[in-house]
Amino acid sequence: MKQYIKEIINQGDDSGNGMTVRFGLPSGLEIIGLPTKNFYGGHWDLGPTWNYAVLADKPFLVDSGRFGQGKNLVDMMASAGIKADDLDFVLISHGHEDHDGGLAELVNSTHLSVKAHAIYELLIHKYPSQAPPGHKENFPAKCWHCPMPESFYSKNCLGYHKVLQELEIDPIGDGENKLAPDVHTHHLPGHSPDCIAVLLGNEAIIVGDIVLPDITPWPTREEVFEEVADVIKPQYTTPNQIFGLDRYIKSLKKVGKIAAEHPDLLVLPAHRFYYKGRWNGLQLADRVNELLEHHVQRCGAILDILRAGPKTAEELAREHFEERLLEGFGSIMAANEIVSHCELLIACGDIVGLNENHYGQNGTGNFENYIRW
Ligand SMILES: [Zn+2]
Ligand SMILES: [Zn+2]
Repeated sequence: MKQYIKEIINQGDDSGNGMTVRFGLPSGLEIIGLPTKNFYGGHWDLGPTWNYAVLADKPFLVDSGRFGQGKNLVDMMASAGIKADDLDFVLISHGHEDHDGGLAELVNSTHLSVKAHAIYELLIHKYPSQAPPGHKENFPAKCWHCPMPESFYSKNCLGYHKVLQELEIDPIGDGENKLAPDVHTHHLPGHSPDCIAVLLGNEAIIVGDIVLPDITPWPTREEVFEEVADVIKPQYTTPNQIFGLDRYIKSLKKVGKIAAEHPDLLVLPAHRFYYKGRWNGLQLADRVNELLEHHVQRCGAILDILRAGPKTAEELAREHFEERLLEGFGSIMAANEIVSHCELLIACGDIVGLNENHYGQNGTGNFENYIRW
């Protein structure tokens, strides 16, 4: 890890906030790490979002920090000697607000064009007549499933929603796409339907939130598909093409294959790259296996709880998660996480959905072989 650090331009704090780092790869390619602050805090602290300026022949930026961080990002780049206008484009790793929140501000103050997965382009728009009932008609489709109450979104999200509507996106397709001779994107959905990783030759991979140190990325729920199905048709017709734990596991296995083909990759994650005063260098193949194992363990734990009798996702969350993680909005996030695992367990035949949102176990453990290689 340390051999890749060419210069610490700004030291920042212990979590990486305010840090600016120049990475140097053996070929001479330089990448600037630009972690911008997040404000979510609490027990679910992600640390800052690591955005990266890749100084390739056609230089580009990956991600734009959260809402309000666009200008700060321009200043951070300036401290590394980069004019935002010298970049060719900004690529969005996926449509979560901690990654695309600063985008409109960035684009409006520069000449940068935007690349993102085609699903991102579809989901940032409003479709008032197709929105689910409950005051969501002025939300972009990607936020229809958000469980936050009105008090949260009226304070944090309305400005963000508004600026997304004006963005012009150059869409990137499924599978693997070549943006330049040594720049390839891979569509690896599951954490979000539009997740993209960027492979830089044999040397480095920018993984967004697909693979993180310290943190297990949250899978989406397949049930969200129904909500946006009309917006993303006709290309996607079944939930597990782009949503859910099943899809996330397939994406992780693809990352594992990439790691096997390129064993010496520098992994550039979007959170916790530097945290609590230390660097979290990742061995990609090992980390993929750890994440797969984490989901094996969680599915196993859910089945264990269900041995005592049927339970709802909320009941399972209360038994499975530590109490401090269930405070405030944590309880909704925890229950969603349980639903993702239950969807996979149902697909494997290990549990069944019963009435009144209860799950019951079948006495089998097919999930283990399914999740492992
Ligand atoms: Zn994310
Ligand atoms: Zn993130």
